[in-house]
Amino acid sequence: MANASIRYGARIRKRYVSVQREKDALYKCPGCGRQKVKRVGTGVWRCAHCGKTYAGGAYSMSTPAGEAASRLITELSG
Ligand SMILES: [Zn+2]
Repeated sequence: MANASIRYGARIRKRYVSVQREKDALYKCPGCGRQKVKRVGTGVWRCAHCGKTYAGGAYSMSTPAGEAASRLITELSG
């Protein structure tokens, strides 16, 4: 039983690390195409290269809602 609880704890830690990685990851900018989009706030992403700001998910840019929002932004600015 002791081994089982150790495995359970490791799994939770692993999932936490993957969320942190996703949050800190750089995403491809739809505007300039560079892998420079970083999370600057909850649901707010900004490209360090061209400075464009995008609405996205809280921890990942690629959510259905975020994709719809960035499509809308692209349509409005394009
Ligand atoms: Zn950009």
